[in-house]
Parts: sequence; C-alpha cells; structure tokens
Amino acid sequence: MKAIIVHGGAGRHRGGRFREKLDVLREAASRGFETLKKGGDSVRACEEAIKCLEDSPLFNAGTGSVLTLDGRCEMDASIMRGDTYEIGAVAGVERVKNPISLAIKVMEETDHVLLMGEGAMKFARLMGFEEYDPITEERRRQWEELKKEFLEGKETPWNRIRSLIKRYPELLAGTVGCVAIDDRGVIAAGSSTGGVFLKLFGRVGDTPIPGAGIYATPHAGATATGIGEGIIRTGLSRTACSFIRSGISPMKAAEAAIDLVDNTVKTSAGVIAIDAQGNVGFAYNTRAMPIAFMKDGMDSPETGGVPPDEM
Ligand code: ASP
Repeated sequence: MKAIIVHGGAGRHRGGRFREKLDVLREAASRGFETLKKGGDSVRACEEAIKCLEDSPLFNAGTGSVLTLDGRCEMDASIMRGDTYEIGAVAGVERVKNPISLAIKVMEETDHVLLMGEGAMKFARLMGFEEYDPITEERRRQWEELKKEFLEGKETPWNRIRSLIKRYPELLAGTVGCVAIDDRGVIAAGSSTGGVFLKLFGRVGDTPIPGAGIYATPHAGATATGIGEGIIRTGLSRTACSFIRSGISPMKAAEAAIDLVDNTVKTSAGVIAIDAQGNVGFAYNTRAMPIAFMKDGMDSPETGGVPPDEM
C-alpha cells in the first residue's frame, strides 16, 4: 500500500494564501506519489515532495525560509527511514537550495546522524550543492515588521529573548514535512524548515532532532511542526509513532500526541503520521496546518487543515 502525506506548517499563517498553499501541497503529494508509483522508495518520495515545497516561497523551508533575529537564514532538515532506523540531518545551514537533499546525503554518504553550521555547509559544497540565497523580499519585509512588533512588546513566544535584548542590544541585528510508505512497506519521514521567526542565531529547533521533528520505524512514521522547543520537550514524532504501535489509528495517535502537548508544554504544534497499512493521520492545535495526502486507489490528493472561513 503506497501512501504519502505532506504538511505546510502549523501556525497562524499570517497572510493566508491558503488556496495557493493547498495547490502546492497537492503538487508535492502528487510528485511524491508518482515517485512511489515508478518504484522509487519512500525516502526518494519524501525528497521529491519536500523539494517541491522548499522551492515554493510560500513555505518556511528552503526558498522563503524565515529569518533569525539578526536577519540571517539558518535552515534545518532531516530524514529517517523506518526499516533500518537510519537518519540524516542538518542544522543551521545557510546558502543551500534544498536542505532535505543535504540531509539525505548525510544519511547515505556519512556515518553520522547530524551535521551543523559551517561543517554542514562545507559538506554541502563537497557534495556539489551550489551557493544559493534562499532569502526572499517578502520574508525580509515580514522580518522588519515582526522585529518592530517584538521590540514594541507585542505577544511573542520568546519572552526571555526579549529581556536578553534589553540587556544586550547588540543582539539585534511554515516548515514543511512529509511521511511516505512505499510498496515494500518501508516508511520514511522527512522535514525541512527555516525555523521560527526571530529565533536567536545558533538556535536549533526540533526539525533535525530524531524523535522530536521526525521519527520512523517499521510500524509508523511521523513528522512534527510548530514551536520546536515544545516539540523537543515532548518527543512529539516518536510519541505519535509509539501511540500507533500500541494499536490506535494514525488519526487518533496524532490527536493524542497533540493532547499531550496541550496538557504539558502548551505550545503550538502539529503532527502528520502514517502506519504500516498506509493509513494517514494529522492533528494540530493552531489556527491552520495545511496538508495534502494521497494513497493507492485515489485519483488525486485530498487536502485539509485550513480554517473553513479561509476557503
Ligand atoms: N518546528 C519548527 C522549528 O521550531 C518550526 C515550524 O514548524 O514552523 O524550528
């Protein structure tokens, strides 16, 4: 049973544009599914789907990634395959077009799990990844606005950072994910992000952290989105996989995993998941988390995760 599910990030989705986002998500799910149909494995399917989302400036991954407090673009990405428990991840990479492909290179070409910063970029150039500037005009504009609001004291998840800036003024200066199962029953989960707006330079979120931003086993796969600090603290993707392993459906498992977040760390989060039968599930506690999925027997992808008043 082949199946694939993709998401475009859990959050407020300032600026909406949901129709356009769902179109790109449909395209990503279709491209990933096409890869599976041609006999490609679930890792390649995740790569194709995530590259499609990274290349769209609408999402916070690859081109159009959000900026750090000091106006840089530090991206994280990861991949995990469920049959072998192999993982590849990169953190804090700049000037790379498709961080998901770099994460896959870490998995397939090295003995490591996670490369970061300068080292990851050096590895990227060795692997033939060209220099690429993922920062768009729109993101730079949003960054200016958010930084202003942040300094004026508007609501933020970064209260301690705001106090830090007061002490050290010199500090100033929608993630995507995919889970797929191929005809051999191998499940893979992948994720790519620019992180969260106004994050402190050097901050690494959940995306490249196995168990938090991604997890895959022979029985289940999941990937998370939202405020990474809460996702790391609850081991959200692994939690969803464990719930599936205990016999509940991916939909119920995703809901139970988000309940855990709501009852403990209380941060914004969303998760998508697949089980070994190709059933898909998703849940989120934010205003939106646009998704698309496709399985054997379906002619085109189905979508969801958008507030009804936005359609
Ligand atoms: N989870 C990502 C992070 O905290 C952000 C997101 O999902 O939008 O880096």
